[in-house]
This record gives sequence, structure tokens and C-alpha cells, in this order.
Amino acid sequence: MQKKIEELKLSFKASLAEATSAEALEALRVEYLGKKGHVSALMQELRFAEDKKTAGQLINTLKTEVEEAISEATEALRKAEIEAKVRGAKKYNPTLRTSEELGSYHPITLAAREVEEVFISMGFTIENYSEIVDDYHCFEALNIPKHHPARDMQDTYYLDNGQLLKTHTSAAQNYIMKKYGAPLRAIFPGRCFRNESIDACHENTFFQLEGMMIDENISISNLIYFMKTMLSEVFKRDVKVRLRPGFFPFVEPGFELDINCAICGGEGCPSCKNSGWLELCPCGMIHPNVLKEGGIDTEKYTGFAFGLGLTRLAMMKYGVKDIRDFNSGSLKALSQFKSN
Ligand SMILES: [Zn+2]
Repeated sequence: MQKKIEELKLSFKASLAEATSAEALEALRVEYLGKKGHVSALMQELRFAEDKKTAGQLINTLKTEVEEAISEATEALRKAEIEAKVRGAKKYNPTLRTSEELGSYHPITLAAREVEEVFISMGFTIENYSEIVDDYHCFEALNIPKHHPARDMQDTYYLDNGQLLKTHTSAAQNYIMKKYGAPLRAIFPGRCFRNESIDACHENTFFQLEGMMIDENISISNLIYFMKTMLSEVFKRDVKVRLRPGFFPFVEPGFELDINCAICGGEGCPSCKNSGWLELCPCGMIHPNVLKEGGIDTEKYTGFAFGLGLTRLAMMKYGVKDIRDFNSGSLKALSQFKSN
């Protein structure tokens, strides 16, 4: 009987090696452990055996071994099936375009990039600066001491710690002068804030693009040259400009650079307050006090600065009649610039 059991063990091993499917494993299980299987038959025979004890133990061992071997093989087969499925599955491809609905750049971003390109080609660097500044950088370093009337025009939003949201990109002038010294050529676009009521041409949040050039023998003619070059590049046509004397504490002399309203062609409309002209750019020669605060030697260097109204420029360039469209989040209004 013991010999028979050993032979069954060997034949089971051979059959197991050949069973490569779930069905074959199940058939093998029935063949050995089923009601009419080999183990059952052995149990029947055991009653008449002489070496009951030893044979009984061997049958039990065989039964356990068959059970464990079949369950291990079944598990291994299941894992192999899963792996095969994973290998064969369609892989996720992040570069695959799944939709034709692409986003578009904001018109102000487009306008900024265009101006930046022009100035980069003229040797200017592009600087970045915080939107939260202190009183010194926003006003005092720009020759606007406390209680100066110019501050009334620039009410803004104040933080509990005394800092404020910058009212103009000029707030970066002092920082950049101290960072680079002279000579320097830099432009710095940025978001600005004013606490004022909103209408078709005023926003509490808008964009400017400041420019600064400091070197030996810089004069107003340099300023006019750079502004004209930039505007004709951006508008791809001759733009009418006028320079009016303007007072800004951080420049001396100071000017207002106006361009003719492209929306109404100069006839007058709500966007230009019916004047036909749009105030685009306060500019001028940097005030010696401002240069001194920035650590620049005023005996040797002079410079010009301008604060381009980037939001206004975008309105002009794209014919946007209402400044409020820019911050509206309206896709209908903003997605029109896709092709640009
Ligand atoms: Zn107009």
C-alpha cells in the first residue's frame, strides 16, 4: 500500500506540471480529491490494509500535499493572467491630445509679450517684482514723501502690517537700481492696484509695464526714440503720439505720452472720455532724488523712466471697449484672442 501511495505522489507531480489552465487544475483536483478520486479509493483500501497506521499517515500527507499544490498553482495562474492583462492594456499617453478645446492667452499677456520682445531686442532685461510692497518703495523712494498731494491720486489697499498693494510698477525702481547699479536697461511688467470706482476705463486692478534706462548722457530724445520704436512695433503701423508736460514727483521733467484712440479713430468715445486721445504712458527723466535713493551717482548718470499702461495698450491694440472685460473671466470675451 505504501508503494501505491508513493506512485500516486509521483504521478500527481507529473500531472501538475502539465496542468497549465484553471480547467486542468480543477480536473486534477477532482481526480485526486473528488468523491471517486484516488484519495477516496485509498481510504477504502485502508480498511483492509495491514500497515493501517503508517499508510493512513501517508494518505493524509498525500491529501494535504495535493490540496496545497493545486491551490498554489491556481493562485500562480491567476497572477499570471492579471500581469498579462496589464501588459496588454492600452497605456495612458500624456502627450495624446484628447480635446480640441485648447485654452488661449489673456490679451494682456499677449500685449506684454509683444512689448517685452521689442525691449529685449534693444538690450533690456525683464524684471519681476512683488505685488505687496512697503510705503518706502511705493512712495518715499520715488520722491513722494508722506502727506505729498500726489498720494491722494493713488489710494490703494493696505495690509494690517502696514504694507500695501503697489499702485504702480515704479515701486520696483529703487529695488532694481540697487540690484544692478548703473548703467542699466530694464523693463518690469506687473499688476497694480488702486482703490477707485470702476467704469469702462477704470479698474481697481490693472497692468503696467515700467521701463528704465540709466547711463551716461541719457536725454529726452532717447526716451522718445525708445517709445516710438516700441509703439510702432506693437501696433504694426504709425501711431500718432503726443507728449504733454505732466507732473510726477519721480521724474523731472515729466510728460504724459498720449496715443490717438484707435477705437473711435480720434473722434471721441467713452473709452477716451470723448477726447480722441488716450493717456498711455507717464514718463520723463528720472528725478535726481530718485537716482540718489537708488545709489546712483547723479554727477555721472542720468536716466529715463516710463510707466506704460499695459491694460490700456491691450484695449487699444485689440479694440476692447470696456476695461472690465479683462477681469471678467468671460471666456466669450477672452477666447477671441486664440489666433493672435
Ligand atoms: Zn475714443
